[in-house]
Amino acid sequence: MPEIISMGEALVEIMREKIGAGLDKPEVFIGPYPSGAPAIFADCAARLGGKVGFVGTIGNDDFGKVIQDRLRFDGVDLTYFQSKPEATTGVAFVAYFSDGSRKFLYHIRNAASGVIDKSRIVSSYFKGARFLHINGSAVSINQDWKETIYLAIETAKKNGVKISFDPNIRPEILGVDKVRALCQPIIENASIVFPSGEEATMLTGKKDPEEAVFALLEKGTDVVVLKKGSLGSTVYSRGTKYDVPAFEVEEIDPTGAGDCFDAGFLVSLIQKRSLKESARYANAVGALAVTRKGPMEGAPFPEEVDKLITLSKK
Ligand code: ATP
Ligand code: MG
Repeated sequence: MPEIISMGEALVEIMREKIGAGLDKPEVFIGPYPSGAPAIFADCAARLGGKVGFVGTIGNDDFGKVIQDRLRFDGVDLTYFQSKPEATTGVAFVAYFSDGSRKFLYHIRNAASGVIDKSRIVSSYFKGARFLHINGSAVSINQDWKETIYLAIETAKKNGVKISFDPNIRPEILGVDKVRALCQPIIENASIVFPSGEEATMLTGKKDPEEAVFALLEKGTDVVVLKKGSLGSTVYSRGTKYDVPAFEVEEIDPTGAGDCFDAGFLVSLIQKRSLKESARYANAVGALAVTRKGPMEGAPFPEEVDKLITLSKK
C-alpha cells in the first residue's frame, strides 16, 4: 500500500530543440519525454525512496508506453493507473524563449489523460497512506477529474490521510474566479500547500505573497511552503517561518522543478525530518531537477541529493 497517492494527468512532452523557436512554424522537436505534473511528482517521490501510487490514464500506444515504462521502472505503484485502448495518450508541446518564458500547447482534455471515473478511488488503497497529493492542473482538466479528486479528498479524510496541494493552475485559461472556486474545497482540506508567490496571491486575493500565506494559514492549512525558483523556498507554519536558500546549479530546463520539490518535501517529512530540514532537502531536489532537459529526467535519486547537500556544507 502506498504512503503517498498522486492523481491526475500523465502526458508526454515534446519540446522545441532550439530556444526561441515558437510553436507557430515548422521547426525541430525532441521527445517524447514522460510528463504531466502529478506523474512527475509521483516519479520523483518514488526515486527518492517514497512508496507512491499514481492514479491516471494513458492510451494503449507508444506514448503511453513511455510513461508507463518510466513509472514502473522507478517503482511507482500502478494498481489504479489505467490504459484505455480507445483513447490516445495526452501530449504537451513546449517552446522555450530566451527570457525564460515557456509556451505550451496541450492535448489533455480530449485525450486519455482526460479520462477518469470514480471507480478508480478505492477506500482500501488509502488505508495507511500519509498524504494524498493534489495538483491544481488535474482539478481543472474536466468535470470527471474534478469530481473524482473531490471524492479522493473525502476518501483520504475518512482514512486519516493528509492532503497536500500544489495549486499549479494557470489563470490565463480559466480566469481567476473559476480557479479560486475550483481550489477552495481543496485548500479547506489541505494540511500542506505548495504555492509560488504568484499562485498564493491569486488564490487569496492578497497583494503580497506573505500576506497571502498568512491568509492560507488562517483558513486552516498547517504548513505553507512558498516556492521561489532560484531563490529557494520559505516554509511557514503557525508561529514559525524559515527562509531556506537555494542551491546553486546551472538551470537547463525548469519544467517539473515544482513537482520534484513537492515530492522531496513530503518524502523528507515521512522520513521524519523537520519542516526546515525538509525545505532544504526539497530545495536540493528542485535544484537537481532543473539541471537536465525533460520534465522528469532531472528527478534525482537520494545519493545525488545527499551529495549536493554535503558539498554545500563544505
Ligand atoms: P513549475 O510549476 O514550473 O514546476 P514552480 O513555480 O512550482 O515550478 P519553482 O519555484 O520554479 O516551482 O521551483 C521549485 C523549487 O526548485 C524552488 O523553490 C527551488 O528550491 C528549486 N529551484 C527551481 N529553480 C531553481 C534554480 N534555477 N536554481 C536552484 N534551485 C531551483
Ligand atoms: Mg508549480
